[in-house]
Amino acid sequence: MSTTCTCGTTKLSQFGENVFSLKTMRNYLSENAYQKLISTTIKGEALDHSIADEVADAMKTWALEKGATHFTHIFQPLTGATAEKHEAFLMPDNEGGAVATFSGKELIQGEPDASSFPSGGLRATFEARGYTAWDPTSPAFVRENPTGGCVLCIPTVFCGWHGDALDKKTGLLRSQHALARQILRMGKLFGVKAVTRPFATLGAEQEYFLIDRKFFEKRLDLLQTGRTLFGSRPARHQQMEDHYFGHIKPRIMAFMDEANREMWKLGVPARTQHNEVSPAQFEVAPIFEEQNLAVDHNMVVMQVLVEVAERHGLVCLLHEKPFAGVNGSGKHNNWSIVGPDGKNWLSPGHTPHENAKFLTMLCVIMKAVDTHAALLRMAVASAGNDHRLGANEAPPAIISIFLGEQLTDIIEQIEKGGVRSSKAAGHIEIGVSTLPKFPRDATDRNRTSPMAFTGNKFEFRAVGSSQSCAGANVVLNTATAWAMDELCSEIEARMAESKKDLNAVLQGVLQGIIRKHKRILFDGDNYTDDWKAEAARRGLPNLIQTPEALAALEDKKTIALFEKYGVFSARETKSRYEVYMHTYHQTVSLEGHCALRMARTLVLPAAYRYLAELGSAQAALPKGVTGGIPATVKEVAALTAELNAVSAKLEKAVQAHDSAATLAAMVVMRHAVDALENLVPASVWPLPSYAEMLFVM
Ligand code: ADP
Ligand code: MG
Repeated sequence: MSTTCTCGTTKLSQFGENVFSLKTMRNYLSENAYQKLISTTIKGEALDHSIADEVADAMKTWALEKGATHFTHIFQPLTGATAEKHEAFLMPDNEGGAVATFSGKELIQGEPDASSFPSGGLRATFEARGYTAWDPTSPAFVRENPTGGCVLCIPTVFCGWHGDALDKKTGLLRSQHALARQILRMGKLFGVKAVTRPFATLGAEQEYFLIDRKFFEKRLDLLQTGRTLFGSRPARHQQMEDHYFGHIKPRIMAFMDEANREMWKLGVPARTQHNEVSPAQFEVAPIFEEQNLAVDHNMVVMQVLVEVAERHGLVCLLHEKPFAGVNGSGKHNNWSIVGPDGKNWLSPGHTPHENAKFLTMLCVIMKAVDTHAALLRMAVASAGNDHRLGANEAPPAIISIFLGEQLTDIIEQIEKGGVRSSKAAGHIEIGVSTLPKFPRDATDRNRTSPMAFTGNKFEFRAVGSSQSCAGANVVLNTATAWAMDELCSEIEARMAESKKDLNAVLQGVLQGIIRKHKRILFDGDNYTDDWKAEAARRGLPNLIQTPEALAALEDKKTIALFEKYGVFSARETKSRYEVYMHTYHQTVSLEGHCALRMARTLVLPAAYRYLAELGSAQAALPKGVTGGIPATVKEVAALTAELNAVSAKLEKAVQAHDSAATLAAMVVMRHAVDALENLVPASVWPLPSYAEMLFVM
């Protein structure tokens, strides 16, 4: 945090200045309250309610100094976005003035009228109240508004009257607890000295598009659905491969500079930024953090990108597939575990003992991902992400794991029961005390894998760019907790039975896991048809569309898994199915409506105008001269006829609430519209082109 340089680095001193961080709290809280709060935020102990008033008062004092007038419990309903309702600190003093008040009760609990949030049947409207409850493990912060004031934002969970989770955060926190319990258990078996609370880590890389606002405003589809429903791919798109990591244009730099400053002030450790594969596509990646905080921060990142873009005359598109024919956007969910020893358990260790733990973790994750592959696919299912998964640019809908050549070799040797050599170096032997040691960066990169081991973490690459990371992490945490639970039980049973130590039984346990789950490993190109065929032979699920992927939530196996680990009750799991299914059908339906409106009120009129123009041109020509006009008329007329016919089909499909038929009709419609775009004069065409949107910046 240098403040000596007058150039860019001075901004780093602003890092976290809008966060009520531990450092800030020290200046506003008594030692007693501070220590008690630390016990909750760092050690994960239950919150001591006796300090609530003092913490509320400290928060208020700090926020008022920052210029805050309001506070809000910020929460994450099942829409996947964030929600907030602001309350002024204001309380009339009965003398014509007012004082600022904020109590411990107001900090800890809120009661937004929640009747309009999706609950999937968890809450009848007559008992519509939802409750927000403070999450002290994610620090409060202030958001500045353009007029200089600001709002104190308090991260909260959101529950119904009966305690049902109505949000994304509650399940995430519960899954973290479940995972932590199993990590501690495994740590004990491995004789790990506990010095800290175990937790999962997350680094969420965020992809996005930026386009000039003037084009956005003329695209009803972008305004209404977040993606272009029509648009012919221009001559130049991404085929020159010159955008990825290319020089960042000054207008974009100005945007990124301001976005970084905003994120840093809010405590988001944004670190990496670059141009992505498609023109007009970019990425920002923060340094990883404790998972709950990282999920919250990713929500902040998305908001900051959208707001800062607006100030620069740009629009930030977070949709998974804003433009057909070029890459879509995702989120790389970099996931790992910090054990009670304070170490990354997915980092190959320096001692054979650590390596045994590391290899055990790899096997645990193989077991978790193979057994719950359909559930992991479910966690990233959305109408937007369907356009991306499996479209040869993002991981396919088939979930598999990439380990890299060397680790795969070691796994194969464990399976055979005779680890003797590593591909990389020297001699290695079986058993905990002699398991292999290998260099840190033993893995190569495989950009096509949905779940890639990248040196010290797993990178789950299927999350959509507009989605909350919570869902994917709930599944990663819970499935891993389950696999660890099974593993620990098996080790404990074998040790009890054989009266042998961990060293003696581990090899056999890992061997069993590898034999059963090695089908999940795949190091090749995930984009090929060969892999699809091979995955089918291996019995791996390939759930292409959202409705089939969401079916995993109805599976008894899923319901039992979430129930067993206290993540979701059966009711809560069912409600998620209802909400996500509803969202999917709503999304497809509104896209269908929008496409229909655009075809009839924008595209067809332009095509008719052109036909009339062609007719006049023909009439003006001397007899016998055609200039090829009849051929063009024929072509345009055929496309308008096709467009009219498919419009009728689309209308029917939309009215029948038939999502599959709606999507199918939209594909045919798009084909006709894009063909017309290539014939109708650009001066008459009613929509900004892909070339303008992707290249004019
Ligand atoms: P890439 O080549 O994929 O960009 P990076 O090394 O830049 O790889 O890491 C990408 C993301 O992974 C960053 O957000 C980084 O903080 C995160 N990351 C690194 N280590 C871990 C970890 N142990 N747990 C979770 N995320 C991590
Ligand atoms: Mg990455």
